[in-house]
Amino acid sequence: MKTLQELVRPNIWSLSPYTSARDEYQGKDAKVFLDANENPYNDPVNRYPDPLQRDLKQRISAIKGVPADTIFFGNGSDEAIDLMYRIFCTPGKDNAVAIEPTYGMYGVCADINDVEYRRVLMDENFQPNADRILAATDSNTKLVFFCTPNNPSGNNIDHKVIDKVLDSFDGIVIVDEAYIDFAGVPSYLKQLADRPNLIVLQTFSKAWGMAGIRLGMAFAQPEIIGIMNKVKYPYNVNLLTQKRAMEEVMQYDRVQGWVESILKERTRLMAEFAKLDCCIKVYPSDANFFLARVKDAAATYNYLVDQGIIVRNRSKIALCGNSLRVTIGTVVENNALLEALSKY
Ligand code: PMP
Repeated sequence: MKTLQELVRPNIWSLSPYTSARDEYQGKDAKVFLDANENPYNDPVNRYPDPLQRDLKQRISAIKGVPADTIFFGNGSDEAIDLMYRIFCTPGKDNAVAIEPTYGMYGVCADINDVEYRRVLMDENFQPNADRILAATDSNTKLVFFCTPNNPSGNNIDHKVIDKVLDSFDGIVIVDEAYIDFAGVPSYLKQLADRPNLIVLQTFSKAWGMAGIRLGMAFAQPEIIGIMNKVKYPYNVNLLTQKRAMEEVMQYDRVQGWVESILKERTRLMAEFAKLDCCIKVYPSDANFFLARVKDAAATYNYLVDQGIIVRNRSKIALCGNSLRVTIGTVVENNALLEALSKY
């Protein structure tokens, strides 16, 4: 691996970050806070939140079994994706490589940051080839993106491929595990301590049921987390989000129950969907959604919209011709989908 200094943009490496009032005084014991130009009225939202979300990091550190200084929280994991480009990729010069098809924000953030985005097509079973990924890299490649389970295909990416790229590529490898709680395979968090070039993304938006509060996680070596903290907005995770997330992590056992219900429903819904007249193929899923090839995706999608049921038409995406992506809902919601399609 290149050194972190070689990988980070020179202007970011030498950046003096903004220091907020809450960075300067971190204690909670003071009686009078006259340091941050806050309004003294309207407790508690009159106060700026902890810029480094320390309480939440302590809890997540215990749940995930990783040190607190390897954790970054962002406004969704989308914030962490954007930060990868802003930290590592010099606009107009550096590039990123990713499996294709995959989560659209890697490409969109590359475009926003004027970074070349190289798509390496997977095979028809949505598995990538490590040699083809490595061949797509050059001396200006700073990032390689994997997403496992992958969106929109739903399957786990072969760990042997990811491991080979982690072993051979001299830049940063991002493994996006937004759907890991549904995957039935170990998380790359286990490899964090031994892999200086690994960044794992996870999110509160899926298994944790908190897409609305916008909270994502990145895990990496403390040196990388330190740089992310330098570049992020000072108060990137708002007070209400931190508070609500703290309440939710205290009842973490609920998440396991939700995951079990969703997995049970996934098995049932995929089996029933495969029997529908409109369905050509249901792809294997390790996530809380599945991809299905249908006879006419646009017509099926429009019919479902008329019935008040919204799925995602992914037909324009590589390898996903005439394919719909269906999120696993409650038993009632899934039955509504099946009933509507049985009459289609
Ligand atoms: N990664 C993947 C693979 C996703 O599918 C999504 C959301 N659909 C995200 C990241 C972003 O999640 P968040 O809500 O944490 O920004």
